Amino acid sequence: MSIHNHNLFIFSDAPRAAPSSNPRPVLPLIHCLKPLCREYLNGLNLNKAYFDSSHDKCFCKKCHDPSNTDLKCRQWCKQQHDWVRFGLRVSQAHQKQWRIFKEWEISYYGTSSNRLASILNNRFVPLDGDKLNDGTTFDSGHPDPTHCTTSPSLFCASRPEFTSRSHFRARNGTNYTVQVVLQCKQKPGTYTVRGGAKFHKTEWATVTRCILIPYGLLVRLQ
Ligand SMILES: [Zn+2]
Ligand SMILES: [Zn+2]
Repeated sequence: MSIHNHNLFIFSDAPRAAPSSNPRPVLPLIHCLKPLCREYLNGLNLNKAYFDSSHDKCFCKKCHDPSNTDLKCRQWCKQQHDWVRFGLRVSQAHQKQWRIFKEWEISYYGTSSNRLASILNNRFVPLDGDKLNDGTTFDSGHPDPTHCTTSPSLFCASRPEFTSRSHFRARNGTNYTVQVVLQCKQKPGTYTVRGGAKFHKTEWATVTRCILIPYGLLVRLQ
């Protein structure tokens, strides 16, 4: 459903006796979507130790209003609109040894909620065909299983061929479509750029293991 459908509306409480030709404007009251995203994540039973709430950031319409003229949203910010980021804990050793927050690039990995536990448990995004420690074989669900595909663009990574849509019925009875994307640090020089003219070369393809570290879980409810 559209994000607008669940908005509440404040109506004028002026006396109704004489209909005004100039009614007060109806102001939409928008609620933050983060509590609903958290409710959704709680239902997935992911280990709390994976998360670091000090790096949470909400880009819902309540918390981040681009119509506020004080905000000058750049392209990277615009693509985050309507997403809620839950910070993920990153190994101190990886941060210090590989300086991932200084030297590695930001990329996005589109996935589905049923794959999150395998990926977070692994600390790195696995390659298709990798045998996981729970005995299963990793299947990204992406169109080309010969490569791990990421994108520097959240728009690109959240396309349906990379990010599946699932259904979520919140406790308040509202139905949503949910998407999950991992915000990652990716080692430079370990991927080839693909995507052609249509997607402005926004697909990064890699066959290298252990170079893609998730540091944020992005959730979008629509
Ligand atoms: Zn919010
Ligand atoms: Zn913005």
